[in-house]
Amino acid sequence: MKRVLVTGGSRGIGAAIVKKLVSSGYDVYFTYNASEEAARALSSETGAKALKCDVRSAEEVKRAVAEARAEIVVNNAGVAGFGQIQDVTDEEWARITETDLGGAFAVIRAAAPYMISVKYGRIVNISSMWGMRGASCESVYAAAKAGLIGLTRSLARELGPSGITVNCVAPGYILTDMNSALDDEARAALVEETPLMRAGTPEDVAEAVAFLIGDGASFITGAVLPVDGGYTV
Ligand code: NDP
Repeated sequence: MKRVLVTGGSRGIGAAIVKKLVSSGYDVYFTYNASEEAARALSSETGAKALKCDVRSAEEVKRAVAEARAEIVVNNAGVAGFGQIQDVTDEEWARITETDLGGAFAVIRAAAPYMISVKYGRIVNISSMWGMRGASCESVYAAAKAGLIGLTRSLARELGPSGITVNCVAPGYILTDMNSALDDEARAALVEETPLMRAGTPEDVAEAVAFLIGDGASFITGAVLPVDGGYTV
């Protein structure tokens, strides 16, 4: 049974990915940081193993990766933040870039040697439509997510000869806690700009991840797959 490590599996999109991959027959490990109770509940519901790991800590990442010993990694953990560029503090810059980009880097750096040794691997990074388009007043988040696309494409080239695919999923507006600060007007505007005229669900994203790690996607690498209802068309 193939082993998968999903970061930030305690809530939202990550939790949907955990459920989808367990039901697809994978041996699933997932990390959580603050949401211990939710992680425990998901673990007892699905049988997936929960590992405490702040992706900003290289030491915690190394421990989680060693425990999972997974040939498939989904870098999903992420945080967002709003604000005009002149108001962004050093702490906010670090919080977002170290989680969204630095976390994926640390996990891949720790996980790659095992994948290379078995000449097989699947890496899926959860970027964002804002990483493709840019986002006003969310520039740090958009920059981190664009960085993830650059990391994905570079590693697709570097790790391809070792039998490892590296791809991105770029979700659009998805109904999770991450968007809980949006008011009704902002939500309506996002839906209006989405050709399919609805918000996405965590399950929509989980389906794309399952596709990219499956055998049917074995000739796909370096791709950025939008799951955004057409927002970026
Ligand atoms: P949520 O806020 O619902 O969940 C975020 C997840 O990331 C939680 O499981 C959280 O774990 C984990 N996490 C946050 N910080 C850390 C950290 N330092 N170390 C480890 N885990 C951490 O967000 P979503 O489910 O919406 O987002 C999941 C991914 O999808 C993110 O990368 C996000 O940027 C991306 N995305 C989301 C979109 C949306 O519209 N919702 C759109 C585009 C992309 P815990 O609670 O245990 O700390």
